[in-house]
Amino acid sequence: MLCVRAPGRVNLIGEHTDYNEGYVLPVAISLETRVHARPREDMHCIIYSDTLDEQAEFNLSAIPEPADLPSGFVRYVAGVAWALQAHTERTLTGVEATVCSDLPLGAGLSSSAALEAAFAVLWNTLDELHLDRLTLAQLCQRAEHVYAGVQCGLMDQAASLLSEAGHALFLDMRTLFTQSVALPPNWAIVVADTGKPRALAESEYNLRRAQCEEAAGALRIVLGKEIIALRDVSPEQAALYLPLVEEPARRRARHVIGENARVLEFLTALRHADAPRVRHLMLASHTSLRDDYEVSGAELDAMVNACLHAGAIGARITGAGFGGACIALVEKAQLEQFLHQAEQHYRQHASYEPRFYACEAVSGASVCL
Ligand code: ADP
Ligand code: MG
Repeated sequence: MLCVRAPGRVNLIGEHTDYNEGYVLPVAISLETRVHARPREDMHCIIYSDTLDEQAEFNLSAIPEPADLPSGFVRYVAGVAWALQAHTERTLTGVEATVCSDLPLGAGLSSSAALEAAFAVLWNTLDELHLDRLTLAQLCQRAEHVYAGVQCGLMDQAASLLSEAGHALFLDMRTLFTQSVALPPNWAIVVADTGKPRALAESEYNLRRAQCEEAAGALRIVLGKEIIALRDVSPEQAALYLPLVEEPARRRARHVIGENARVLEFLTALRHADAPRVRHLMLASHTSLRDDYEVSGAELDAMVNACLHAGAIGARITGAGFGGACIALVEKAQLEQFLHQAEQHYRQHASYEPRFYACEAVSGASVCL
């Protein structure tokens, strides 16, 4: 029997920067997915999700096309097997596996990447594939694109596979350069779910992407062909040339360019455990997402206010927005009091049922000992 664990993730700062080839700073959290697997003599896979109480099967010698699989969790697992087999040109070992998780599904903490990462590490170990973590992350991303039909960036899979305990993971989405950044050991990570389901997220997300491309295109005409994405525009260039871009693309671009600069500043602030600076940057990120990117809402704003009121070091939207969760950093010594006060304050200002997850920063997916 082999057991593999893989964590979910939350993004500390760097929102809507990934598809602009910019910077993100996720952290792997102590809410995890576990897979217990028994290898089989043949190439058949029987996967049971304890979380959903559902079972599914497929055969590695002829992995069905995505459309020929039932929608749902089996697509992620078969997708990982398909991507690993295509990359290694080998047929993997069949397994009987049970999946369980304490991650909420579909809540923006990337349970899908955790599921993929767990199976990637499982087969990497079982079949001695010797694939490095970045390659595994890229293969998981490919699985999610092709088998789940979700055009995600690499952040979720990278966080679940490459993170170090006690560290956040800086990731440059263009070069795929990664670096672990130590978190102050006395800071806790709190995911504060507003209880408001994410609505409109997909259509609005696609609209934002198009507006960013429009802004990058307009700036390319002025600044030259080295402007491939908004990542290439400095804050100084933005101050001079953004007025030439039409609204609302101008404001969208202002968010992205400012947010990339904030991620880099945040790294320095973390290294110095500079709480006032961290607070300033998280609030600037939230304000920019609210006013320039327009992806917040009454509940997300109420949750950030509640977290600050309850004594958080900093708080902001995390994830795409339009409902979903905020992230707060909190002094560990004040955690109990924080959770109590933030919940009370939120309930006074919003009518959705909040949920708070106090997390540690954990290491990426691994075989359980
Ligand atoms: P998120 O990644 O934010 O949690 P997604 O919609 O991307 O949300 O992924 C959620 C999907 O991933 C679920 O609907 C399910 O198909 C699959 N999944 C994740 N974890 C599990 C699990 N423990 N058991 C079964 N399916 C899971
Ligand atoms: Mg997901």
